This record gives sequence, structure tokens and C-alpha cells, in this order.
Amino acid sequence: MAKVSKASVGYHEDAHADRCAVCKYFTAPTTCAIMAGDVAPDGWCERFKRMASKWISGATENAHGQFRKKAEKAGMTTREFAKAHEHDSGKTGAQARLAETLMGMHPRGKKESLFKK
Ligand code: SF4
Repeated sequence: MAKVSKASVGYHEDAHADRCAVCKYFTAPTTCAIMAGDVAPDGWCERFKRMASKWISGATENAHGQFRKKAEKAGMTTREFAKAHEHDSGKTGAQARLAETLMGMHPRGKKESLFKK
């Protein structure tokens, strides 16, 4: 299937809670399944579709243990570790992007405690 152009779906790059990093069409580091060209984790377009909440719940539960342990092993806070790995492919990268998104979305909420050191 041919991919759509950036202009046709209003693609832009800025800080946004709904962003490519947590879109079901995004594959790190810069690929979108439906839009042509590179995209950024902080990008967004009208076709945005959030990853299934079930997947996010699973990832946050994993992040509570595994992601924080990875950060501690690296001698970093979870925020530092997430920033350092936000462009990684694979599980750590996905957890890093999700952690950053959730930390930004829930500054005083319950979910922050999952990632706060
Ligand atoms: S928000 Fe748009 S550009 Fe970004 S990954 Fe999703 S569909 Fe692709």
C-alpha cells in the first residue's frame, strides 16, 4: 500500500502527549507504517492511533520493575535513562518513549511513581 504524504495528514513536530512514540504505526527510530519519509518520536499527524491501552498497561507494569532496574544498573535516574534511550529500537526504546510520555502526561499522577527515582 502506498504511503501518504506528510502534508496530507497535517504532520508536524512538537511536544504533544499524543505523539508518534506512542502511536501504533510508529517503529523506532523514524519509521511510520502509513506515512512516507522519516518521522520523529515527537511528531504527530491526523492519523495518530494510540497503542492499545492493554499494551501500555503491560509496558508500564514492566517498566515499574525492569525499566527502573535498567536505569539503576546504568547509574541513572529513570528520566535520564529514558532520555538516553528514547531513540533505541526494541523493548528498552519502547519503554523509554512510553516512560517519557507518561511522565509528561501525568506530572502529579499515580503513573509518575512508576518511573520516578
Ligand atoms: S502519529 Fe501519524 S506520523 Fe506519527 S506514527 Fe502515527 S500515523 Fe505515523
